[in-house]
Amino acid sequence: MRGMRCPKCGSADSKVTDTRVSVDCVKRRRTCLTCGYRFSTVECVVVDSPYVVKRRGEVVEFDGNKIRKSLIRAMDKEQCSEDIIGKMMSKVLAKVRETKSDRISSQAIGAIILDELKLQYPVAYMRFASVYKNFKSAGEFASECKLIDESSLP
Ligand SMILES: [Zn+2]
Repeated sequence: MRGMRCPKCGSADSKVTDTRVSVDCVKRRRTCLTCGYRFSTVECVVVDSPYVVKRRGEVVEFDGNKIRKSLIRAMDKEQCSEDIIGKMMSKVLAKVRETKSDRISSQAIGAIILDELKLQYPVAYMRFASVYKNFKSAGEFASECKLIDESSLP
């Protein structure tokens, strides 16, 4: 592979001496043809997430840790196992990555999270919604509660 320069002399000519393939990575041992230095290159599969457009239009890198933190904050302590949060995270991430565009609004991410919480964790849903939807009055909060009750009816 040209362009992979020797870290010692900068030459782009190297010989592959060994190739290891794992599930999502390929590691190649190389020897520089100019100076004989040995090094490895690794090629990995990285799943791209869209950029996040914040309320004020600011575009930031997608940050799964932020989502994880807000989930943990919303969930009851006794519900909040690594297992449950992990499963929620992979569902949310899968939906975020379904986005065709390379950008997604923070509101859209919030809506995805609310969707995941709604049926299984109504209390966490309300907590998350109160931050996300920025309820201005107790009345708004109450009408949202009513909505939840109705949607959980058979
Ligand atoms: Zn070299």
